[in-house]
Amino acid sequence: MKTEIKLKIKQSFVGAFKEGCPLIAKEAIINLEDMHEEGTIINLYDVKHHFIAKGYYGRQNKGYGWVLSKDESELIDDSFFEQKIKRAIGQRKAFFNNDQTTAFRVFNGEGDGIGGLTIDYFDGFYVINWYSEGIYKFKEQVVRSLKKVTPIKGIYQKKRFDEQGKYIEENDFVYGEEPDFPLIIKENGVNFAVYLNEGAMVGVFLDQREVRKLIRDHYAKSRTVLNTFSYTGAFSVFAKLGGAVKTTSVDLANRSLSKTEEQFSINAIDPGTQDIIVEDVFKYFKYAVRKKLKFDMVILDPPSFARSKKFTFSAQKDYKDLLKEAIAITALNGIIVASTNCSAFNMNKFKGFIDTAFKEMQKRYKLLEEFTLPEDFKTIEAFKEGNYLKVVFIKKLDD
Ligand code: SAH
Repeated sequence: MKTEIKLKIKQSFVGAFKEGCPLIAKEAIINLEDMHEEGTIINLYDVKHHFIAKGYYGRQNKGYGWVLSKDESELIDDSFFEQKIKRAIGQRKAFFNNDQTTAFRVFNGEGDGIGGLTIDYFDGFYVINWYSEGIYKFKEQVVRSLKKVTPIKGIYQKKRFDEQGKYIEENDFVYGEEPDFPLIIKENGVNFAVYLNEGAMVGVFLDQREVRKLIRDHYAKSRTVLNTFSYTGAFSVFAKLGGAVKTTSVDLANRSLSKTEEQFSINAIDPGTQDIIVEDVFKYFKYAVRKKLKFDMVILDPPSFARSKKFTFSAQKDYKDLLKEAIAITALNGIIVASTNCSAFNMNKFKGFIDTAFKEMQKRYKLLEEFTLPEDFKTIEAFKEGNYLKVVFIKKLDD
């Protein structure tokens, strides 16, 4: 049994916890000096010694830990983890029963009752993401519970808690059998090549499933498509399958070329018929303007923060300018798909960036579609920041 500690919470934060806020912010804690070992169970009390909630100590960029229960007598033991994971899996029955989509999220952190922990499913294989050393201390319980409540071929893990909260490079294999990679999974009938043991990114971002489907089913037909920050070219493949005239994928990383070729090939599209460009997106925009290129659809899916040789990109500071570059090379009545996973601003603020960008370019636009996280990325009302994804489809109305 781990020792538990008492944390005194500042009065101004008590209301939020009572309303269900799961994140234990550093600023909320009075006796920080009592926090030593990550993974310790912490009991939160107000200054009058009334119990508020219990949670665990785990440091990540977001805070110092997560609330696990509002019940003072609840034990954070094997059965606690088993019950949470079982319930999460039960809520995804429809996903498990769908043979056209064989990869999805089975456990989404605080949305499923345990902040700092996510679990993804890839056709029988599971990938556990640990976002702090604190939650990693519960590895045994989590792995044991998972094995108990669902059939498993194998388990991999990603430790995302080095000093900067980044992924720790190591062998990620944890348990069971190892498949031959690439493991081919399906999403709405489309193949994806995934590599569960090659670093932080496995080859697909599962949270964009609905966006990819909509591009394929409703927007790509007869359009020329520019996919920026394209990684494995997932959006390009869906666009091509949806009848795009041609796709152009641009990503800075060398690996993106072979990964994108592979992604097209496993879906029976000759990669030689598509443009796959390894280059800084900002450089490509300049080239496109010089060559007077226009696209009927431009997809923007930058990381929240990135540093390349020439530019530092921060979604919060630079998204508006990124949009302006896109507007300049989007054809009349063309579509811009603007996406961000930056949790530092919300949908309203994001739409504000869009509005300002079009105003500064003196063009009119129309918002067509709006997406946040899909159902398997479960979030809770009391923690809106957890719903980090924002995707907007915009139609450009002036040339
Ligand atoms: N849109 C992708 C995911 C993007 S991940 C998908 O749907 O799967 C972010 C990608 O941006 C990474 O592959 C990274 O290499 C790329 N990237 C970061 N900065 C860049 C830049 N300045 N120019 C081009 N690509 C960049």
